[in-house]
Amino acid sequence: MANVEKNALPMKNIDDALQIRNHLLIQLEKATRIHDVSQRQKLLNIVIAGGGPTGVEVSGMLAEMSKKIVYKDYPEFKEHQLDIYLIDAADKLLGSMSQKSQKEALTTLGKLGVNIKLGISVKDYDNGIVSLSDGTTIETATLIWASGVMGRKAPGLPAESIGRGRRVMVDGFNKVIGVEGIYALGDLCYQTADTNYPNGHPQLAQVAIQQGLLLASNILKTQVGKPMKSFSYKDKGSMAIIAKFKAVVDLPKGFFKGFLAWLTWLFIHIIPLVGFGNKAKVLYNWFWSFFTNDPTLRLIIRPEEDDK
Ligand SMILES: Cc1cc2nc3c(=O)[nH]c(=O)nc-3n(C[C@H](O)[C@H](O)[C@H](O)COP(=O)(O)OP(=O)(O)OC[C@H]3O[C@@H](n4cnc5c(N)ncnc54)[C@H](O)[C@@H]3O)c2cc1C
Repeated sequence: MANVEKNALPMKNIDDALQIRNHLLIQLEKATRIHDVSQRQKLLNIVIAGGGPTGVEVSGMLAEMSKKIVYKDYPEFKEHQLDIYLIDAADKLLGSMSQKSQKEALTTLGKLGVNIKLGISVKDYDNGIVSLSDGTTIETATLIWASGVMGRKAPGLPAESIGRGRRVMVDGFNKVIGVEGIYALGDLCYQTADTNYPNGHPQLAQVAIQQGLLLASNILKTQVGKPMKSFSYKDKGSMAIIAKFKAVVDLPKGFFKGFLAWLTWLFIHIIPLVGFGNKAKVLYNWFWSFFTNDPTLRLIIRPEEDDK
């Protein structure tokens, strides 16, 4: 969708996240100077496309921000706070997770006031209007795209090696199908040889890490003439944070939610940070934000280019 590509804000990496933060703060600043109620509401409406973990996490966080931070910083908005819409073409949130997690996400976000629209897809976003497949529209200055990951183009690979979402088709050893000596791993690859995942693996960090480790050991094996081992994903579980003190954790043999799940999410995401100093700093910042509901980083940072 060309208009969506042009006008929506993607949520895929740190640059995107900074861009979204700047954009949202700018819309809030603008809204303080607009007295026309409908024009102002347009700036305070936020539409998020995609009800996977990213969309759920972003909408929960913005709903909390609306309730606990925005009204403090902008007393003008007491009556017109952020209106958050979460849209998904499927009939559930967190489609890749358990039914219990899906239900919990729906209930928690509903309680936070997020307008959830399921079974409906975004069709267009032009002139500040999001058009939906049910014929309705939402006026907004902000459409956050939290759906689907597309691989970068890999020019030179034969067309038959490229699958859905530009994922590169690989065999059980992560070797690209149709060419010699090229391997693809993680999000970028599409592997159907793993009997438990005939439709490919979920695009998760654990898949990428496990494939990377196996490929490294397989390449070493080939150097000493030993046979390579085929990849089989070991699911350690998945989780999503929904709101403050609320998260869901799906384990291969169980499910838990609430405060314990939230603590688990924080712990698991602190562990891989590089260096003790970073871990301590992030932990301290989170602690401070969670206690005070007052994160300090409300800076609008824009590259010079944009200002010109
Ligand atoms: C918002 C968001 C939240 C997520 N949260 C979670 C989570 O909580 N848990 C989880 O397990 N997963 C999560 N994921 C998914 C997870 O990030 C990916 O599954 C994981 O990063 C995949 O690792 P990768 O190495 O395959 O790809 P990437 O991490 O994307 O790394 C690929 C790298 O290759 C580089 N690159 C691209 N093209 C080229 C080129 N031509 N030449 C050289 N380099 C190139 C890219 O710049 C990038 O650095 C999340 C994803 C998103 C977008």
